[in-house]
Amino acid sequence: MNKPNSIKKSPRLGPLGAEPPLFDTAAMFQESLHRYAEEIMRPVGTALDRMAPDAVVAADSPYWEARRKFVELGFGVELLLSFEPAERAKMMSIFFEELGWGDAGLSISFGASMLPAYMCAALGRQDLLARYPESLIGCWGITEPDHGSDSLDPNRMIFHAEGKYGRPNCIAAIEGDEIVINGQKSAWVSNGTIADVCVLYCAAATASGPDHRNGFVVIVPMDARGVSRGKPLDKLGQRALNQGEVFFDDVRLSLDHVLAGPDTFQEAVYIIHTAANGLMGAVFTGVGRAAFEMALEYAHERKQGGVPIIRHQSVAQRLFHMFRKVEASRALVNRVLHYNFGTEPALHAGMAAKITGTQTSFEVASDALQIFGGNGLTREYPIEKLLRDARASLIEDGCNEILSIKGGYYLADPDRL
Ligand SMILES: Cc1cc2nc3c(=O)[nH]c(=O)nc-3n(C[C@H](O)[C@H](O)[C@H](O)COP(=O)(O)OP(=O)(O)OC[C@H]3O[C@@H](n4cnc5c(N)ncnc54)[C@H](O)[C@@H]3O)c2cc1C
Repeated sequence: MNKPNSIKKSPRLGPLGAEPPLFDTAAMFQESLHRYAEEIMRPVGTALDRMAPDAVVAADSPYWEARRKFVELGFGVELLLSFEPAERAKMMSIFFEELGWGDAGLSISFGASMLPAYMCAALGRQDLLARYPESLIGCWGITEPDHGSDSLDPNRMIFHAEGKYGRPNCIAAIEGDEIVINGQKSAWVSNGTIADVCVLYCAAATASGPDHRNGFVVIVPMDARGVSRGKPLDKLGQRALNQGEVFFDDVRLSLDHVLAGPDTFQEAVYIIHTAANGLMGAVFTGVGRAAFEMALEYAHERKQGGVPIIRHQSVAQRLFHMFRKVEASRALVNRVLHYNFGTEPALHAGMAAKITGTQTSFEVASDALQIFGGNGLTREYPIEKLLRDARASLIEDGCNEILSIKGGYYLADPDRL
């Protein structure tokens, strides 16, 4: 077929779009992660998406092989922290974008798994890191059945003026040389039913009742006596991600398991939330990129009116905006990670990355589905899964609404109010 006069050959962008050449280590890193994402995560994530939640984590599930191969890659907290801050930020953006490109649910499973080790490292607790190494499956338990958004707001910036917090669902108390934990965390704990170790954020018992604003952060080995779990959660998107309740019945641990106490609890929420929001921004930039790439490919293959649909102006324009949004999301996430690794981390910068990455993935996946037409709605094609995965991200790690309200308050200068 003759080439249409109106379409000229343009420079081809690389997998990371208009990204200047990467330094050697980063280029190698990107290549091997991309290979893993393409060869292992995509097919395994697609298979797990169709399986029942119990089967996703059954002994014969492909999840375990994907996890084993991920651990073998050797990319984790220790490696990331070994880079100087600018390199670390670049590596982290690439790392989580490539994982997100592969599969959102598996990315969050692997990312959440790193959080206990990350917090031990961030708070200088090499002793705990040695005892609970990052090869173990980790989880972050913070939200509770009665306290979702509330849990991410211990400094009460967005708490309703007429609100009453009510009783926390999980409370820890110091008794002699032990920390004693009772209660439960929500069914949303990522890796909740499979984790080996949990970084638990919970209220502290005080003489005047439980204090949820100044609580405890505790490293809990999940085989400790008194820990039990709920059933794997069944949900719309990120179905490869195991989630479930964790229960604590008089769980007793030596005091060296306490990572933060009441005086540093809010700071510890700030540190983990800033890291997790940055990670989410990168993962969902990857999900948006995957949706864009699939739509671009399809728009060259599918013909209507005798031409590939990309020749129709509205399709080309839609694709351009999808491309533009993914580029903008990547640029912001990169910038925020550089800022947050290079100086005093800013949670509202992390929130901007999380909201932009997740909103981008949702809009781009929805546009991709439109480009696929009726095919996009079917389970024969991969787009409906990306849309479901992206939809969940608007809620996870703090609903985007509450993050933006809180982020807006962080912009205000208290000295001028
Ligand atoms: C895929 C996924 C993974 C997750 N992983 C984890 C995990 O690893 N560990 C963990 O502990 N939790 C995890 N969560 C829980 C997640 O952090 C919570 O779902 C989230 O914080 C929202 O809480 P909620 O679902 O209870 O909603 P709610 O807090 O009940 O909110 C319901 C609605 O009310 C709105 N709302 C609530 N409060 C306010 C307010 N103050 N101002 C304005 N609007 C408000 C919200 O925006 C939302 O639209 C995960 C969730 C998902 C979906």
